Amino acid sequence: MNVLVCGGAGYIGSHTVYELIEQGHSVVVADNLVKGHRAAVHREAKFYKGDLRDAEFLDKVFGENNIDAVIDFAAFSLVGESVTEPLKYFDNNVYGTIRLLEAMNRAGVKKIVFSSTAATYGEPESIPIVESDSTVPTNPYGESKLTVEKILKWSDNAYGIKYVALRYFNAAGAHISGEIGEDHDPESHLIPIILQTALGKRERIAIFGDDYPTPDGTCIRDYIHITDLADAHIKAIEKLFKDNTSAVYNLGNGKGFSVKEVVEEARRVTGREIKAVIEDRRPGDPSTLIASSEKAIKELGWQPRFNTLSQIIETAWRWHSSHPNGYEK
Ligand code: UDP
Repeated sequence: MNVLVCGGAGYIGSHTVYELIEQGHSVVVADNLVKGHRAAVHREAKFYKGDLRDAEFLDKVFGENNIDAVIDFAAFSLVGESVTEPLKYFDNNVYGTIRLLEAMNRAGVKKIVFSSTAATYGEPESIPIVESDSTVPTNPYGESKLTVEKILKWSDNAYGIKYVALRYFNAAGAHISGEIGEDHDPESHLIPIILQTALGKRERIAIFGDDYPTPDGTCIRDYIHITDLADAHIKAIEKLFKDNTSAVYNLGNGKGFSVKEVVEEARRVTGREIKAVIEDRRPGDPSTLIASSEKAIKELGWQPRFNTLSQIIETAWRWHSSHPNGYEK
């Protein structure tokens, strides 16, 4: 298959490109490189630099390549920034995807896998979270992704564009080769910050709150390995070709770890001290987020392979310790 990966130079996108190529597919990457890294794009992928909000750019990409399906990762994803700059998020994440769907219509491409998020649920009504739970996002990032899910539903109804929306829990880890990994600027995610502390690039890790209603008082999250996420996208495309129906799936391991447990496991994996201090809660953090991925396991035939916290941290450590400055040489 020939797959167009929008946002293929970003963290989840670049790992999906690797997995697509490893599984024998042809890949075209479109990325504006605002957040992504050219060096993260697999050398066998065809690369186009440009923005999804540019219709001419998209027509060129579709015109020069015989695309079978699209995977769309192109979005801003910082929750805190989305609260202070909501219009930036709706412009890029929603308007960009509308332009992409229009270009798909013009090109006659009718299948898309969309990168969604657990942030579409907001404060969970029960644990584990299932896809039919209510969706009440508590920040513009989650709202922008939920808005696109609704746009996809109506685009299916009107134009027959079939979609799979994948709601990720906490994406973590790195490609097993250590060649590509997580490199955000600024970095806000827990595991990279812990490992940057292990490397001495930060003095300490701040644990945001230890008075949550959890066994050790720190927030619990469901960490899912990036290569397992990548594999789910390919299974989602296969499903679209097999039964041509749209669907939404959670992707997580179904198991939660507290912030303190993650720090402890990182100390074990790295053999380094990693200084941690307790600070105030970060506004908007739910205490516990754990996915039920039963639907994806059953309907996509997906099975996470890197499903222990140690595998996740070990692969992340391989990347961070060999690329202490990320993609910057
Ligand atoms: N966290 C923390 N210190 C940090 C970064 C994150 O204590 O420097 C906590 C955060 O409050 C949350 C968990 O780690 O409970 C995971 O946060 P992350 O930003 O990685 O992902 P999120 O769950 O917000 O998508």
